[in-house]
Amino acid sequence: MQFFHDFSDERNKTWCYHCTVTLGVNSTNREHIPTKSILTKPYPANLPVAEVCASCNEHHSLDEEYFIAFLSAVLTGSTDPNSQELKAGRSIFSRNKALRQRVESNKREYQTYGGQTNVVWDPELDRIHSVVLKNAQGHAFYENGEPMLDEPKAITVFPLATATEEQLASFFSGSDGLAVWPEVGSRWMQRMVEEQCFDNDGFYILQPDVYRYRLEFEGGVTVKTVIHEYLATYVAW
Ligand SMILES: [Zn+2]
Repeated sequence: MQFFHDFSDERNKTWCYHCTVTLGVNSTNREHIPTKSILTKPYPANLPVAEVCASCNEHHSLDEEYFIAFLSAVLTGSTDPNSQELKAGRSIFSRNKALRQRVESNKREYQTYGGQTNVVWDPELDRIHSVVLKNAQGHAFYENGEPMLDEPKAITVFPLATATEEQLASFFSGSDGLAVWPEVGSRWMQRMVEEQCFDNDGFYILQPDVYRYRLEFEGGVTVKTVIHEYLATYVAW
């Protein structure tokens, strides 16, 4: 992975892309895109980072903790701290009993007609959506230089394993050249031209098997991610 200077509009860099408050006057935090704990160590060398205001950065922290805990529990099939797939999940469930109970209550067991016991997990969708939206805003801002302040037209999250053929086709389609190109000089444009980190679906591989994402510019901006090859997310403006 290479690191590029972002030539897109410098004016956008002086304020928080979540709330437009002026940076430099207010206290700021460095925000990783995506949320760092979604990834696994060692982290990619050039993990995207943007300056945001401290209050926006902290605002998302509880939702992020839930998101990671839930994802880890689903990947593991349990909330037992000792067996967690994600390291971050292990530490969250060890120290936060209330959250463990909360995620445990999202788990539902049912009997199949064949007499098998299956487990499904029902996430608190508002919390999941808040993290997915935040990360998508980050990707759009970092890759395209454009803050996405409007309500998105759509936020969708689904496990790849249970998706229908149609759902998968529509999610992964359109990778063969873009009808509308990103802004010249934007990071996404430079990546497309100069980097070899794209897979056959046109997704940029930030960390193999852990996190890949794609931006689309047809009829607005769309950000798609695949997280741990399990969860697909889609945000469209
Ligand atoms: Zn802010």
